Amino acid sequence: MSDDTIREFVVQLLIHLDILIIPKAIKQHYSSSDVYFVPCMIKDSKPTTFYSLDSQGERTIFLRYSLARHSIPTALAYKIIGGAINAWPLKDESHKPCLYHKAAVLNVSEDNQLRILIDKNQVMLYMTNRTSLLSISPDVVASVQECLTKNLQSSLLFHYNSFGRKIKPTNLSDLYKIEVGIQCGSDVCFKSSPDAMTIDSWRCRNGKEHQTKYLRYWTFNKVRRRLIKRHDVLCWIIDYIIKLVSIDLTFMRQQRC
Ligand SMILES: [Zn+2]
Repeated sequence: MSDDTIREFVVQLLIHLDILIIPKAIKQHYSSSDVYFVPCMIKDSKPTTFYSLDSQGERTIFLRYSLARHSIPTALAYKIIGGAINAWPLKDESHKPCLYHKAAVLNVSEDNQLRILIDKNQVMLYMTNRTSLLSISPDVVASVQECLTKNLQSSLLFHYNSFGRKIKPTNLSDLYKIEVGIQCGSDVCFKSSPDAMTIDSWRCRNGKEHQTKYLRYWTFNKVRRRLIKRHDVLCWIIDYIIKLVSIDLTFMRQQRC
C-alpha cells in the first residue's frame, strides 16, 4: 500500500470520526480539499461577548442538554462540536472563523445564528435571529434541535461503545434532559422542554411571567407537520389535475386544427 493511500485512509477515518472537519464553505464549492478544522486543537477562549445578552438577549431563545454525569468528557465534547460545524458553516468575524475551545458560532441560515457551548455537564445552545423573535422560523429552530439531538445521541453511543459500555439506542434519551430557556434580566430562565410544550406561560423564581410561544419552536409540532404533509399531497393532486386538463385541451386544439 502506497504512502498516499495510507494517508488518504487515515484522513478519511479522521473525517468519519469528526476529528477533521472540512470547512462548510469549502465543501460547498470544491469536491475535495486539504483544509480542515481540528476542534481538539483549538485553544482560543471564547470572547467575552459570547455570553452577552445585552444586545441580543431579546432576539434569542435557549436550549440546554444536561447530561446525567458530572462533566462531559473532552473527547465527547470535541465530537459534539465537530458534528455541529459539520452541519452548518462557521460565522466569520474579521476573516476569522468563530471556533473556540469547546464553543462555536454558526450561521444556520441567513438570518439565524447559533452559538454552541459545552461547559461541565451541559451543552448550551443560543439561537439568535438578526431582527426579532417574531421573524424566527419554527421549522429552522426545530430542525436545528433535531439535528443536534441526533448528533448528541450518536456521540454518546460512540463514546459508550468505545469504552465497552453497552447501551441500547432506545435508552440514549435517558442519559440527558432537555430544557428550553428565555432571557430573564441578566440571566436565563429554563423550563423542561416537555413541560414547555403543554403550557402557555410559567412564573419563574424571580416572579416573572415567561411565555412559552417561541420556546415551543424548538420541538416540531406534530399537528403542523401533519397539516404540511396534507398540504403537500393536495398541491400534488392539484398539479396533476392541471396537467391532465392541459393535455386534454392541447389534444382538443390539435383535433380542431
Ligand atoms: Zn425568569
